[in-house]
Amino acid sequence: MKTHEKVAEILERLKGEYSDVGTALNFKTPFELLVATILSAQTTDVHVNKVSKDLFSKYKTVKDYADVPLETLQKDLSSINFYRNKAKSIQGSAKMIIGRFGSSVPRTMEELLDLPGVARKTANIILFNAFGINEGIAVDTHVKRVAFRLGLTKNEDPLKIEKDLMEITPREEWGALSHLLIFHGRKICQAKKTRHKECVLYDICPSKNI
Ligand code: SF4
Repeated sequence: MKTHEKVAEILERLKGEYSDVGTALNFKTPFELLVATILSAQTTDVHVNKVSKDLFSKYKTVKDYADVPLETLQKDLSSINFYRNKAKSIQGSAKMIIGRFGSSVPRTMEELLDLPGVARKTANIILFNAFGINEGIAVDTHVKRVAFRLGLTKNEDPLKIEKDLMEITPREEWGALSHLLIFHGRKICQAKKTRHKECVLYDICPSKNI
C-alpha cells in the first residue's frame, strides 16, 4: 500500500471509530480557545475544562484578561501547572490582540506566532478549531507517538513530523488527522499500554508486535 493510500485508509477507519474530529477543550469564542490551549500545555483537557468553566464565567471579553491585575489572574489559574507563566502569556496575548489586531484573534499562522505563549501547535489548533482553516497539523505527544508507530514518520522533532504528515495527507484532512490520532492515542495506542488487538489499524500497522 502506498503511503497516501495508507493515510486515506487510516482516516477512513479512525473516522468510523471517532465521530467528533474537534478539540476536547470547551470554548465559545476564538479567544477562549486560545486561553484553553495555552492552559492545556502539560495539563489534561479534563482539568483545563474544569478550570476554564469558572474562568470564562468571570472573564467575558479580551479586555477583561488585559485589564485584570496579573496576580489576580495567576490566582484564578493556580490549580494549573506553570500557572504564573501561562497567566503572563494569556494577558500578554490579550494586550497584543487589543493593540495590534482590533480585539480579534488573528487568523494567520504568522500573526498567531507573534502572540506570547503561542507556538505552531497552538496556532494550528486555533486555526482549525476556531476558524476551520487547515494551515498545518497540530503535533502533540499522541500524534507524535501514533504517527511514528504507524510508520507515517521516522522523525521525532514535532516540526519535522508535521512536515512529513502534511506531505502525505490531503490538506482538507490536516485538522481531522491530528484529532483522530489524538483520540486513538488516548484510547487505544497509549504510551504505556498498546491495545493492539482492539485496534482498527492492526492489519496495516508496522508496530503491531511491539
Ligand atoms: S496496532 Fe498497536 S501500535 Fe499500531 S496503531 Fe494500533 S495500537 Fe498502535
